[in-house]
Amino acid sequence: MGIIPFENTWPYERQYNDIYFHSCPYCESDYVLTHMKLRDLKRAKEGIKTLLIMPCCNSKMTIMEADDDYFWSTERLRK
Ligand SMILES: [Zn+2]
Repeated sequence: MGIIPFENTWPYERQYNDIYFHSCPYCESDYVLTHMKLRDLKRAKEGIKTLLIMPCCNSKMTIMEADDDYFWSTERLRK
């Protein structure tokens, strides 16, 4: 995980079985509920590459790793 810069992270929230973002890094929509399942999150936390398609704008986020707060992606998400 050390090789992924912090600019490539984006915070997510988990509430029960839902994974959502306070805002989309691509189109800036508010409160985006993703299609991600808890088992996908578990796999991402194990370092399994996961593709997430944003329901708001169809942008593709390639997640390399996840921790309890952030997704670590292949591209820069923070401006
Ligand atoms: Zn979006």
